[in-house]
Amino acid sequence: MEKPAENEKTKGNSRSLNFIEQIIEEDIRNNKNEGRVHTRFPPEPNGYLHIGHAKSICLNFGIAEKYNGLCNLRFDDTNPLTENVEFVDSIKEDVRWLGYDWGDRLYFASDYFERFYEFAVFLIKKGKAYVCDLTPGQIAEGRGTPTRPGRESPYRNRSVEENLRLFSQMREGMYGNGEKVLRAKIDMASPNMHMRDPVMYRIIHTDHHRTGNKWCIYPTYDFAHGQSDSIEKITHSLCTLEFEVHRPLYDWFIKELEIFPSRQIEFARLELSYTIMSKRKLLQLVEEGYVMGWDDPRMPTICGLRRRGFTPESIRTFSEKVGVAKRDNIIDVALLEHSIREDLNKRAPRMMTVINPVKLVITNYPEGETEEVEAPLNPEMPEAGERKYNFSREVYIEREDFMEEPPGKFFRLAPGREVRLKYAYIIKCEEVVKNEYGEITEIRCVYDPETRSGSSKSNRKVKSAIHWVSVDHAKPVEIRLFDRLFNKEDPDDTEEGKDFKSNINPESLKVMEGYIPSGTGPFKPLEKIQFERLGYFCADPDSTREKPVFNRTATLKDTWAKIKNKG
Ligand code: ATP
Ligand code: MG
Repeated sequence: MEKPAENEKTKGNSRSLNFIEQIIEEDIRNNKNEGRVHTRFPPEPNGYLHIGHAKSICLNFGIAEKYNGLCNLRFDDTNPLTENVEFVDSIKEDVRWLGYDWGDRLYFASDYFERFYEFAVFLIKKGKAYVCDLTPGQIAEGRGTPTRPGRESPYRNRSVEENLRLFSQMREGMYGNGEKVLRAKIDMASPNMHMRDPVMYRIIHTDHHRTGNKWCIYPTYDFAHGQSDSIEKITHSLCTLEFEVHRPLYDWFIKELEIFPSRQIEFARLELSYTIMSKRKLLQLVEEGYVMGWDDPRMPTICGLRRRGFTPESIRTFSEKVGVAKRDNIIDVALLEHSIREDLNKRAPRMMTVINPVKLVITNYPEGETEEVEAPLNPEMPEAGERKYNFSREVYIEREDFMEEPPGKFFRLAPGREVRLKYAYIIKCEEVVKNEYGEITEIRCVYDPETRSGSSKSNRKVKSAIHWVSVDHAKPVEIRLFDRLFNKEDPDDTEEGKDFKSNINPESLKVMEGYIPSGTGPFKPLEKIQFERLGYFCADPDSTREKPVFNRTATLKDTWAKIKNKG
């Protein structure tokens, strides 16, 4: 596992420039593009955005912000077979939620189809593009291998007139899918496979979600992306490393088309341990029912993280901490979890909640009596004030906080032992009641009335303090305990013949029936809260007034902080 690219000590404004910022500052010094900085985020609307896209969004919008520039949102919608409006809408929502604003610069590559067509005609007229009748299989075969040059297509030397006529007929729908393509005429012997007469247009007789049936020829990524950048006068086109080998082609088109020279700069994709990020695989998880949907809180999608209880700020901080690397590396998912803990620790109010309840009876506490005790809402924000809890003779405590035969390191409740009920009294366990199956149904204790928290005599020390909810003042809730979706650091590392789904963690969701104090809530969807001693949670949109539902965002145990201190 590698460390983030940037040293954590250099976070915030004081960190040193990353390599992209260095390039941009150099360009500004040289007054390139009159010192303008203009980036874009170019998603293909063929799925929901994931945390890797968030990295790209933060980078593109962040750079524009930093250098007083602009960042466009542009949909790279050139493949009608896999794209749709649902994805367009969700992407807009996610970018906005992350806190970025594209102003009036929302673009679609499909809006440029006519321009692309003219560009193609321009190249045909220059003798730099031709219509090829080879099948996709023949084209792939004729392209050769990295060590063996390709073969020239027999259609390569068609006349300009014939190419113009055929290309226009392709547009008019005279040919079927795959019957003809338009190819750039570059170099079949180039050591770069992408330069061996790449396909610019293919025939796809399918309606497009924006242009309907207006087109049946669609440009490839290579003949749309750079051209869109140029049309929008993007100065720095930031993309992930797999496009490094496309760059010569990106530059070739710009040169031959004689259009605005956007500059492509590649950075390493964000990869996270225990996480898959390919949209194709995420789609499989959704379609095959391994998760509840794109926004399942176990998904690495932005909507999944949102429903899990992540804040936009935590994702932006994470993205900044990860930094920008030139070589691929895998980031520990614990760093992402660390970022949300740091954020929520400061601002989530706290509340005692019991998620795996067992009843505890205080035999010497008067029946029918109730008193109020107080606890800070969040010790990190004293100004937030206090929360009041009703305390009475019967309370629920966490099953895990009691052991009949405690091992050496267990300091919580056990027969004959004392603990504090947080913010209330010290109690002592005297008896355990079990049912016919030997399960504990009740723990019977006595309390020491002299030990109420905050009272002058309360400072008697016991080894531990446990949380509780008064039985008469308890409201049932559903609690969804989410864990990592995969139990392998690299989910793609599988046995022969199996795929990433064989590494799904069968324990990634546990549903509990617990209690919160009555009188709390109603909770707004996604409202954040810390359940004392248990972790950070948020109210799930499935909540109702009668039955709130909470998602666990993260436990309190910060494995990243540990790694950091070790290393
Ligand atoms: P996937 O491989 O997950 O399907 P993609 O690259 O096909 O993703 P696009 O919609 O084309 O998805 O991506 C939009 C932008 O987000 C591109 O600039 C792409 O380089 C960037 N991006 C995608 N995945 C990552 C990642 N893991 N880390 C950083 N940037 C990413
Ligand atoms: Mg892509």
